Amino acid sequence: MAEYKKPTNEAEFAANFSPKKPLMSDTEAYYESSRCLYCYDAPCITACPTGIDIPLFIRQINSDNKDGAAKTIYETNWMGHACGNVCPTEELCEGACVYNHSDVKPIEIGRLQAHATDKVIRSKKKLFRTGKDTGKKVAVIGAGPAGISAACELRMLGHAVDIFEAKAKPSGLCVYGVAPYKLTNEEALDEIAYLQDQFGFTVQYNKPINGRADFEKLEKGYDAIFIGIGLGATSSLGIPGEDKQGVIGALEFVEELRMKHHKTTVGKKVIVLGGGNTAMDAASESCRMGAESVTIAYRRGPEEMGAYPFEFDLAKKSGAKALFNVTPVEVMGDKEVTGVKFIRNKAAYGKIEAIPGSEFVEACDMVLLGTGQGKQVELLEQISGVKLEHKSRILDDRGRLVVNEQYQTNNPKYFAAGDAVNGGVEVVNAAAEAKKAAHGIDQYLKN
Ligand SMILES: Cc1cc2nc3c(=O)[nH]c(=O)nc-3n(C[C@H](O)[C@H](O)[C@H](O)COP(=O)(O)OP(=O)(O)OC[C@H]3O[C@@H](n4cnc5c(N)ncnc54)[C@H](O)[C@@H]3O)c2cc1C
Ligand code: SF4
Repeated sequence: MAEYKKPTNEAEFAANFSPKKPLMSDTEAYYESSRCLYCYDAPCITACPTGIDIPLFIRQINSDNKDGAAKTIYETNWMGHACGNVCPTEELCEGACVYNHSDVKPIEIGRLQAHATDKVIRSKKKLFRTGKDTGKKVAVIGAGPAGISAACELRMLGHAVDIFEAKAKPSGLCVYGVAPYKLTNEEALDEIAYLQDQFGFTVQYNKPINGRADFEKLEKGYDAIFIGIGLGATSSLGIPGEDKQGVIGALEFVEELRMKHHKTTVGKKVIVLGGGNTAMDAASESCRMGAESVTIAYRRGPEEMGAYPFEFDLAKKSGAKALFNVTPVEVMGDKEVTGVKFIRNKAAYGKIEAIPGSEFVEACDMVLLGTGQGKQVELLEQISGVKLEHKSRILDDRGRLVVNEQYQTNNPKYFAAGDAVNGGVEVVNAAAEAKKAAHGIDQYLKN
């Protein structure tokens, strides 16, 4: 188990958050690519939500055709570099690699992908030409992975694109959410700058689209509108004491960490509530920020956690402990949090039942709510005709934008993709869906 000292400067922060998948050297990439069997009907391709021709780009790396490799990646996935670093490859391409059947380490596809794309980003070499101008204009709301991917694809199809972004930087959760040991701010922003230079879409920063009046302006000025606004702030738990000082959303904690690095406030004893990937990230990151103890508390057993097993392992290796089958019932303290009162649960007929009289208090001075992000329902309801998922039995699905197979909403002028539609998956899903949505827009504009 790692023990981290609280970082007091940028160098110490960088050491505690050193890359999980460091960039490969040319020699490493050559040897790793030599191991690929270039499988026919390669299962790694099928496992990739964007369907990148993985054996082809690996072969191109092996024959020192780095530009060709990057082109193979980017023509299928505009977030190629980010995905090489942040994708849960253990569950996707690398998890499907045939070497797993022989108990041999799978090909490091993510690192090879990051290697090839890093080369072209650094060389600033333009690999694509935008399509012939169609005279049509598309507004894109949000410069996250979905918005950027839609913009690139729309430019390839010859449409002009203006992006409206609420924050000061592009890249969405790649800059404000993903753990810094997966992708640094610099890496995320360099990829967007590389794409913008190549495709010439415009981005207006600090320009949130706030309501009906803004939507109507876009409707007048543009032929189609793409919504890539992701999700909202962390949902509250609805228990007494949640408003105490020291209780914050896991996402908001990660966002502060991404912006302020070693200057981020972290408690000595941190409790992270939740069993999803964001909760695991927040736990790993609190450990790396030098918290003395970090406890993940989840209301069911470990096998039912939403987080990938490798993310839970990483949190444990970083120093976090876990409490299972406990439900938080109250946040303790006067003004500031001093602990969380839990009640123990037992499983009964697939449901969980609180065990009467089993309450106990776990002391802490910081609580991170890994309770998931809410949807931007109020904003989206201001677009006339757009339908949101309200009836799903799955709570997490409620408030998602409803789209057809072209990613068109019930208002034909609006298309959408990414977290706002899928309810929150991965960067690669946002990239894959946005590409399809761009083609949906293209069809709509042609008709
Ligand atoms: C803590 C955390 C860690 C994660 N880690 C990983 C990981 O390791 N690997 C992985 O693949 N995925 C990870 N994800 C998921 C991944 O980041 C998202 O699935 C992906 O970023 C979704 O892309 P998006 O473009 O749909 O939304 P977002 O990335 O949320 O981008 C939405 C953009 O729209 C902007 N916006 C919002 N509202 C407005 C408005 N009204 N007007 C204008 N702009 C607006 C936002 O500022 C933002 O830039 C993580 C998510 C979280 C929360
Ligand atoms: S499954 Fe593994 S060995 Fe086969 S092509 Fe994909 S990466 Fe190469």
